[in-house]
Amino acid sequence: MTTTNWEQMVRDLEFRYPELMNNVFLEVGPGWYYLLDNMCAKLYALGPGEVKLVQVKEKFALLCVHFEAPEELYNRASDIVHAAEIASANVCYRCSKSGHIMGAHLWSEPALCNICRDKKKEKKNASPEEK
Ligand SMILES: [Zn+2]
Repeated sequence: MTTTNWEQMVRDLEFRYPELMNNVFLEVGPGWYYLLDNMCAKLYALGPGEVKLVQVKEKFALLCVHFEAPEELYNRASDIVHAAEIASANVCYRCSKSGHIMGAHLWSEPALCNICRDKKKEKKNASPEEK
């Protein structure tokens, strides 16, 4: 999955959920696209224009979503958002396959599948060591 694909995905989300995605910068890996898509569809179903995403990022290795919602919808929106945030612990943030977080630190990286983890290791080993 390339950066261009990711940009295309973001545009796609903005196109399908315009009120929800108005002016949000998505700072997450492309593997979480389907998580976001699923979450957006559910939030949108509460009423287009009711819920607004304020920020979508990765925090402490998990998806972290800030949103605004009218009081009467807040709990339902919150449940949907939390479900997506929790699910992100087991979704590779690069390719969306099933994955897991390594380590249990607050600064742990988001979940990766075994293939992406290996790829990342290879890349690391290939780069010259800093002295
Ligand atoms: Zn992966």
